[in-house]
This record gives sequence, structure tokens and C-alpha cells, in this order.
Amino acid sequence: MKIDRIETFLVPPRWLFCRVETDEGLVGWGEPVVEGRAEVVRSAVEVLAEYLVGQDPLRIEHHWQVLTKGGFYRGGPVLSSAVAGLDQALWDIAGQAYGAPVHALLGGPVRERVRIYSWIGGDEPGEVAEAAAAQSAAGLTGVKMNAFGRLSTIPTPAEVDAIVERVAAARAVLGDDRDIALDFHGRASAAAVRRILPELAPLRPLFVEEPVLPDQVHHLRDIVNCSPIPIATGERLYGRSEFLGPLQAGVAVVQPDLSHAGGISEVRRIAALAETYGAVLAPHCPLGPIALAASLQVAFATPNFLIQEQSIGIHYHRGSELLDYLVDPEPLRFVDGYIVRFDAPGLGVTVDEAAVRSAARTPHAWRNPIWHHDDGSFAEW
Ligand SMILES: [Mg+2]
Repeated sequence: MKIDRIETFLVPPRWLFCRVETDEGLVGWGEPVVEGRAEVVRSAVEVLAEYLVGQDPLRIEHHWQVLTKGGFYRGGPVLSSAVAGLDQALWDIAGQAYGAPVHALLGGPVRERVRIYSWIGGDEPGEVAEAAAAQSAAGLTGVKMNAFGRLSTIPTPAEVDAIVERVAAARAVLGDDRDIALDFHGRASAAAVRRILPELAPLRPLFVEEPVLPDQVHHLRDIVNCSPIPIATGERLYGRSEFLGPLQAGVAVVQPDLSHAGGISEVRRIAALAETYGAVLAPHCPLGPIALAASLQVAFATPNFLIQEQSIGIHYHRGSELLDYLVDPEPLRFVDGYIVRFDAPGLGVTVDEAAVRSAARTPHAWRNPIWHHDDGSFAEW
């Protein structure tokens, strides 16, 4: 079997899909994307496709080695995400070729269902409470919220109080047997984090995510040491070597993205590395159905797994939704806050190719917002 053709599709709301076709008629799908830089990743996929076309798709590990190391310059979000999407598509083909779900090829399932969380939005405590109540009513046992928006380098007492009030509003609605995860989104300085975490600790969040930017991981050890709240990070780390420092610093939760950190092949290795530190996996996935299916395949087969992000109803998505690009959305439907294991070959979902081709005729140009402080200087989004 040989790879015949690789196509890419820029589809709303902000995704990029790739389709890998073989000379025997098998087709694999992947999701190589960096949110806000999809066109750049598309170019990287086109360059990597020069090597892959004509190759045996079943040599996944060999191709992973060549694609990540064969260009001399390596790593970073663009190249790692291009490889990630292609890797997902190769695993999809391999599963179909062997008549097995990807989780069977990874050693077989270790769980029957995967716990998921949903995002809640809202600027005011009342809005947060309303959103939390809606997710609770939908059966979710865990939610995640941005802890704050634009933040001063050294936040005022009023800013800190507002953060605590919003999280407390969610806790009041959810009670003590549901979880609230808090995303700091790399918006805070280390000094701000040290001021805020002790105030949030009594609300006992599941974890605090990206307390500082990935280029300030040298602060993580201090942050872990000052926080009874478990610390999570990893959506902007692109391979196992980048997770080593945070794990050595004591993070409890690693959050590689199946579409950024080298795909199924590399996230499995990141999970194994995390296991040696007693840390658990909670893959980042505010993306589309292929990235979620790839995440779930890893979750089904990975022992040290905590919870899965997914993007249904997420505030970034306008006009199209996670399930719109599947022939049958049933595998990704959640029941009581869990997605039940599915066993169809490959990634286990069937992409609606006609819907993808049609949507790609009006490609998106999604960009993240650019924020500024009151004095006009740049602020982290
Ligand atoms: Mg995040």
C-alpha cells in the first residue's frame, strides 16, 4: 500500500483537516492546525507531503522520525502540528488496514468511558453561575473557565476579589462533587499567580492551567510549591523534551494537544514520561472532531489519564460545531459527562467528506483577539 495523495481543507470555525488517500482506496483523516495560524500549518503539511506521497502508510513511527527530524530544523508549533495531523491520519489508515480501533493498536483499552469537561463563559458572577448550572443540567461532572481576562501585572485587591467571586459563583452552583478547572491562559505574571492562588485555594479547583507562559516554565517549581491547587500545563509545548522541565518542577497534569504535540505517536510518549512523575494526562482539545477522536483513542488506552477537553458550545465557534463534519455524530455524544468507548476501526469516526469539501469553499481566516492594557501596551490574551 502506498500513499497517493494528501489534501488539506480549511474549514470553519477555525480548523484545518487533512485527508490522506492510499492506492488501495483507504482514506485517513487528521487535524493539523494551530489556532489562528491554520494557513501556515497548511503550507507545512504541503512541504511534508512531498516526502510522504509514495510511502507505505503503515510505517508510522519511521515516518514520524523522518518528518520531525529529517528537515534539520525541528519542533515548534507549526512543524509539530503539521506532523501531528499527518500522524493522526496514518493511525486512522493503519486501524482500517488492520480492522482495529487505534486504541487496540496502542495495547488495548484500559477504560470503558472517558470523562470530559465543557467550557463555561461569563464575565459577571451571575453569568458564570448560569453557565455552570446549564452544564450541570447537561450532565457534565467537570467544567473549565477562564479565571480572568486581561490582568494587571500586579493585580489590585479588587481584581483579585473579582476573580475569586466568579469562581465562587461556579462552586456555589456545582457543589462539592463536581469539578471546576481554571485556565490562567498564560495571562498572569508569576507575581500575580503567587498573589491569586492562595485566594482561590479554598474553592478547591481541579487544577490551574498555564499559570504562566510556556517560556516562563522556570517559575513552575515555585508556583507548585506555593499552591495546594494542582498545576497543569502543556497546550503550548510540542514534544516530550518540552514536558520534562514542567514535570521535574512538579506539575500534576500535562495537557499536550493531539494536534500540536506530534500526534498520537508523541502524546503516548508524553503520557509515559508523565507516568514516571506520577502526573496525569488531560489533553487540550478546543478543536474539531478528528482531533477529539484522536484524543479519545489515546484516552481509551492510557492508564494515567484524568479528563478530556472538548469544544461543544465553546465561545470561539460561531456558525459551525464539532459534530457538523461527521456522517454519524453518535460516537462523540456524551452521556452523564462521559464519552463511551467506541470500537470502529481507525480513529472510529467517519468524516462527512461532502460537508468538508463544501465548507472549505468558504475558508475561515480566524485570528485570536489582540488585547491591550489601559496605557495602550500589549496584554496577553
Ligand atoms: Mg488553556
